[in-house]
Amino acid sequence: MGILLLSFVIFEKNNAMIRLKDLVAVFEQLAPFSLQESYDNSGIQIGHPDKIITRGLVCLDVSPEVLDEAIEQKCDVIISHHPLLFKGLKQINGLTAVDQVVMKAIREDVAIVSVHTNLDHVIEGVNGMLAEKIGLSKLSPLSPATGLLKKLVTFCPPAQAEVVREALFSAGAGQIGDYDCCSYNLDGYGTFRAGAGTNPFVGKKNELHEEAELRIETIFPVYLQQQVMAALINAHPYEEVAYDIYPLDNKFGKAGNGLCGWLKEPLKEEAFLLQLKEILGLPCLRHSERTGKVLHKIAICGGSGGFLLPQVMAAGADAFISAELKHNQFLECKGRLLLIDAGHYETEQFTKELMVDIVNKKMLNFALLISREEKNPVYYL
Ligand SMILES: [Zn+2]
Repeated sequence: MGILLLSFVIFEKNNAMIRLKDLVAVFEQLAPFSLQESYDNSGIQIGHPDKIITRGLVCLDVSPEVLDEAIEQKCDVIISHHPLLFKGLKQINGLTAVDQVVMKAIREDVAIVSVHTNLDHVIEGVNGMLAEKIGLSKLSPLSPATGLLKKLVTFCPPAQAEVVREALFSAGAGQIGDYDCCSYNLDGYGTFRAGAGTNPFVGKKNELHEEAELRIETIFPVYLQQQVMAALINAHPYEEVAYDIYPLDNKFGKAGNGLCGWLKEPLKEEAFLLQLKEILGLPCLRHSERTGKVLHKIAICGGSGGFLLPQVMAAGADAFISAELKHNQFLECKGRLLLIDAGHYETEQFTKELMVDIVNKKMLNFALLISREEKNPVYYL
């Protein structure tokens, strides 16, 4: 009986079932979905969160051809960068490519998950991968996100303060830049009177009590609020934990639009442009008039990033690589910096590799293929 049971356990372990929600959770850890832009629709496009998945196909856009490839390759989930669904569908009649994909994916039971601007906004995301390929270091967001940090204040007897602080830090609170375990602690005392149905940690029921307490202040990103609060309530000795949460206007250095970084070796403009063409596999690229400067600091934004030009100028970048740039933006950069339009697909092409890396690091046994069918929709003559 014992032997039978043991072999059953091993079988179960080797065949650990992965569900769609597990895949979503892997991306949530690196690029929380709450970081996406308001216009975006990252997350599950099609499929029940509990659907069991065994094999995935990675792409930038889910076209009917990519879906057919997934079916042929026996993939039951597609992970795309651009969402299949951006706005609500009022009719699904099969007359558009999106409709066709929706109908066929549901019919063939292929789930679709998209990881878009949330992956754009984290340093280790779309731009981090592009920066790595170009050879940039010391990366920081061009336009750091705001409204993503909150302050937590709680009050705790000094003897239990260390346990409470450690629980908060383990849940992700107290990170400021490259510093962790950040908190501010102030001595004081609290007052309370425990009611009839209570079981107070200190003091007696129905008696006004004074207790020496430490005011602990720390900071946390909003997307960790649930786990930070759970850690506080778990670790704090009091039955009723007193705490305050304040929204902050601070910039969040770990997320934002675009990235700025430094070349390992300064390069002349022509050498840099030629190198970039090779890295991105470009037959040609569009750029503004050369400034004659040697390039040190490079700003990047994969995909459409022209809106970041003011931040690029403010950062003092020598060049800006993005896509879908406009005539007036090339004029604006004349004599100031080298503006490079390297194509939307080209600047985001490494995102497929990135998504495979992210999943493989967390789900060792989950097979992922990169689409072979997907091609740059823009052609050059
Ligand atoms: Zn894009």
